[in-house]
Amino acid sequence: MSASRRPALLSTDPELASFVAAEEVLQAQTLRLIPSENYVSAAVLEASGTVLQNKYSEGYPGRRYYEGQQNIDRVEALAIERAKGLFGVDHANVQPYSGSPANLAVYLAFAKPGDTVMGMALPMGGHLTHGWGVSATGSWFRGVQYGVRADTGLIDYDAVRDLALAERPKLIFCGGTALPRTIDFAAFAEIAREAGSILVADVAHIAGLIAGGAHPSPVDHVDVVSTTTHKTLRGPRGAMLMCREEHAKAIDKAVFPGLQGGPHNQTTAGIAVALHEAAQPSFTAYAHQVVANAKALAAALLQNGFDLVSGGTDNHLILIDLTGKDVPGKIAAKALDRAGIVVNYNTVPFDPRKPFDPSGVRIGTPSLTSRGLSTEHMPLVADWIARSVDAAAKGDEQALAAIRAEVTDLMAAFPAPGLPLS
Ligand SMILES: *Cc1c(COP(=O)(O)O)cnc(C)c1O
Repeated sequence: MSASRRPALLSTDPELASFVAAEEVLQAQTLRLIPSENYVSAAVLEASGTVLQNKYSEGYPGRRYYEGQQNIDRVEALAIERAKGLFGVDHANVQPYSGSPANLAVYLAFAKPGDTVMGMALPMGGHLTHGWGVSATGSWFRGVQYGVRADTGLIDYDAVRDLALAERPKLIFCGGTALPRTIDFAAFAEIAREAGSILVADVAHIAGLIAGGAHPSPVDHVDVVSTTTHKTLRGPRGAMLMCREEHAKAIDKAVFPGLQGGPHNQTTAGIAVALHEAAQPSFTAYAHQVVANAKALAAALLQNGFDLVSGGTDNHLILIDLTGKDVPGKIAAKALDRAGIVVNYNTVPFDPRKPFDPSGVRIGTPSLTSRGLSTEHMPLVADWIARSVDAAAKGDEQALAAIRAEVTDLMAAFPAPGLPLS
């Protein structure tokens, strides 16, 4: 249906073209609930696939190591201005290749190998790059970890403070990949001040909610804000680092020449477009709708008898705890996939099972909200999830196929941004 959108690719490499076309169909027909994914607009897709790709631009606007930057400088300067305006920051670096290299640049800017750094433990909802052992950040630095309380599923700020004062880490990371609740940036700032630490808010997941006013901003509380651009912010795969003027030089030097070579100019262009879109009133409405949908979905899941980590959500993300069900996370996730509902299995705090076969399923509402689904659809989504998990327990493939047909039907009525009409 859509290969003809790319006639040159189709004629040069029909095999690869067929994979892309199949992915378009998959993204159109399925209910995508992975909370770190989204659908970029057609405008972002167009900006991300341009001849800006052909240009080397090591350095920063006005200070490059290559000539011929007349247009590239304007693209990057525009992205920077828009990031500063949208988030209300002094300084923005739009060059990090993705969220993980962006975080590594923060280490390079402020810490030396062997220094103590503090972040949320991966199984509690933190990110690998916050000093977790299997990550470079956990082997080149000495990572110490905080978590959530067993009784509430909420960050234990008293324990965070005790750990910070005992360890005096160079860096403290707040933010994560599986946190369904609002992060208290002011509380982290107080702790970082007492401990003499640089505070980094990694808002990769919630940047779009912050831009749209649906989650408090860390900007007035932290030293550095790190974010990806491709999650709730709905831009191309990339990242940004934002900070006050005092840290601008250190951050820029760490990204280039510290860690990276030439920036991906085609991505910078896509980021600029996404930031422009995120500054529109329609994006504010989108961000609030993402949260409203997540709250409605959480309520409907609770009604269906599911346990949710922390009992619900304040943002775009829900962590279903299947410990009390007969079906572990991976089996549930794979059954949901067969039913046309795309999620990821995930550890839950204090998970009795192993990370590669954990007890949880992580879902979120950014993608379905981009397609225009609203709170009225969430009971149906919860019902599909409940029936799929039931079917997984019984090994009922027919039931999964039936759900898949219902999902495909509903999705056909909600065309996704950036995809050809199904
Ligand atoms: C997604 C994410 C990252 C990493 O981003 P990549 O682009 O996958 O490298 C870092 N931190 C947090 C909190 C994330 O959610």
